[in-house]
Parts: sequence; C-alpha cells; structure tokens
Amino acid sequence: MQTAGALPLAGAASAAEATPDYLAQLGVAPIINAAGVYTMMTASLMRPECVRAIAAMSTKFVRLDELHDAVGKKIAKLLGAEAAMVPSGAAAALTVGTAGVLTGTNPDFIQRIPDLTGMKTEVIIQKSHRFPYDHMVRNCGVKLVEVETREQLVKAIGPQTAMLLFLNKADHLGQVKMKEFVAIGKQYKVPTFNDAAADVPPVENLLNPIKLGFDLVCCSGGKGIRGPQSAGLLAGRADLIRAARLNTSPNSDTIGRCCKVNKEEMVSMMVALESFLNEDHKALWKEWETRVETMRRTLSRVRGLKATPFVPEIANSVPHLRVQWDGKKLGLTELDVMKQLREGQPSIELVPTNPKPGEGVEIASWMLQPGEAEIVAGRMEEILGPKA
Ligand SMILES: *Cc1c(COP(=O)(O)O)cnc(C)c1O
Repeated sequence: MQTAGALPLAGAASAAEATPDYLAQLGVAPIINAAGVYTMMTASLMRPECVRAIAAMSTKFVRLDELHDAVGKKIAKLLGAEAAMVPSGAAAALTVGTAGVLTGTNPDFIQRIPDLTGMKTEVIIQKSHRFPYDHMVRNCGVKLVEVETREQLVKAIGPQTAMLLFLNKADHLGQVKMKEFVAIGKQYKVPTFNDAAADVPPVENLLNPIKLGFDLVCCSGGKGIRGPQSAGLLAGRADLIRAARLNTSPNSDTIGRCCKVNKEEMVSMMVALESFLNEDHKALWKEWETRVETMRRTLSRVRGLKATPFVPEIANSVPHLRVQWDGKKLGLTELDVMKQLREGQPSIELVPTNPKPGEGVEIASWMLQPGEAEIVAGRMEEILGPKA
C-alpha cells in the first residue's frame, strides 16, 4: 500500500507536466455545467474507471465482433435483458435497432435499406411522442404513422407495420400508456421500441421497460450513466439485437456503418453501466440536494429573489433549483441573466430553457463539480443582488 501510494504521486506529477492544457491552447473556455446532461455541453463527465478502461483497451488488438459479443452478453445480464449491444449512443440505437427490425438477418435487405423494397414500411407512434430523434428511425426509410387513441393505434396496424415506437419520457402525455402499448405489440406481433435515452437516474426507468417486455429499449451512455459520450445501450430480443448488429460497424455495406463504436468505448460503456448499477444512488441524491440547498440559502437571502428546489418529472429527474424575480423591478430578464452568466468568468450554463418573464431560470445540480454550487450562487448574487 505504501509503495503503491508513492508511485501514483510521482506518476501524477509527471503526467500533469506532460499533459498540455488543450483548451487554453485552443482558446476554448471550459464551462461550469449547471445545465445537466446536454450533448452540446458535452453532457456528463466520464467516471474515472471508464477513462482507465479506455486507456487499458487502447493497447490491445481484438476481433471486434468477438469483443462485442462478450460485452453484449455481460450488459444483457446486468440489465436483465435477453440480449444487448453497445451502439454509438441512443440516437444510433434508434437507427440500427429499427434497421434490424426491418431487415432481420437478410443480407440483401441489409444492403438495400433505406430502400425498403420487400420490407415493411411503416412505424406507428403516438402523436404526443413525436420527438427530434425520431429522425434516426426515419433514416431507415420508414414512414411514421401518427395516432392518438388506442382505437386508432390498433386500426393503424396492418401488413406494412414494422414497429411501434415509444418515447419513455412522454408516457404521461400519450393516451396509450407503456404497459398497454407493449400488450398491443405482443397481441399483434409487432415489435415495440422504447427510447429511454435521458431517463436515468432512477435506474428503474431503464430496467422497467425491459421488464415490461419492450422488444427493444435504448439509453444514452454519456448522460446519467456517465459513460463515454459516443456510446449507449440497446437491449432487447436476441434476434433483434443480432439483426441490429448486422446493420452496423464493422460491417461495411450497412446503414449503421457510420455509427462505429471502438473497442475502448465498448468496454468503457460496460464498466460505466456496472458502476452505475452498483452506485449508492441515495448518497448521490443527498449530495445533489446539498448543492441545491447551498445555492438556495445564498440566493434566498438576496432581496427580490425566490429560490425553490424542484425535481423534473421523468427525464433529468434530479434535484434542481428554480430562481425567480420581478424582471421589471430588477431590470433584468431571465435571458439577460443566462447571457451574463455565460459571458462571465468562469462561464456558467444553466438549463437551456427559454423562459417567459417571471418563469425564472433553472439550475441543475448533478453535473456541478466540488465548489461550483458556491460559484454559481455567488455569480447570480452579483448579477441579481442589490447594487452597491
Ligand atoms: C439524448 C437523447 C437521444 C440521443 O442520445 P445520444 O446518446 O446522444 O445519441 C435520443 N433520444 C432522446 C429522447 C434523448 O434525450
């Protein structure tokens, strides 16, 4: 232990000397992420063990398919799914998963898609579940058929129906809820696909749709799970996972060849999931609440500010703080304050909402690093507090 303790110290010092400050060299400002897991803000920071997995894997050659089989098997076991794979994110999962549903293992179909000659052509989705990422499903050449009621959904199912698509976080918006949706898929023998990309924690939001019997479920790797940004999870029926694998890298003539996952991220993703599932979620939650309370205490002291803790419903369902004020009295709108925080030193990003006057700004606690809750609250006090 003693020798082991001495070595990393020396190693860390020389590594620090050897590692250039890339951001400074490039003139790119690092930001304080009080927004949450947004791709445009690089979402989450990878767990240290994920970075170690990447470094370890970077020194070895393997047969990629063999590694993917083994990683998929391990992930499936962790998730309680029949099978699983690592796509290059949840968006990629939507494309390769849909492609698998459409082509099966037919090599001609795999080469032909998005030309759907000989294949089914329609995916049914509830109107309230339409989302920007359904473009990844449309990449496969299918037409999305929108429905609202259960009756419309059942009536829309026909010989051309390839799949039923569900957006996990929109469950409360649609008339057909998750359980019933899966049951309809089973009754009419149409595969169901649930996108739960940004919905963990809690971990149940990923495990429940799998347990409920969705044929495919996807999740981002680099959001709440804090794995690699360009990786994700696709879990479900073994035949569909097999078909999805055939529709992506390393297979060249496929729609998903552009969704490559390298060996480093594949293993790192597995490590991230394992850590995520074994994490002390209660302790983390407490830590996030402490950060919110730190900011609330500072900001509720400021005259004219109202600071209220809240937890969003499904996606990003972690402790946040809402800060409201009378824009006329303070002479600042929400967007003014967000801009000043962004342009300040250090640069701070809040939840990228587009609030109407009075609605307030939202601060996410979970991506803040030690000491940053104090900095965010302090900067907001400077901007919104009484001027000397
Ligand atoms: C973020 C997100 C995606 C894309 O996930 P990536 O892992 O970044 O590819 C897909 N669907 C939903 C609902 C998302 O929130």
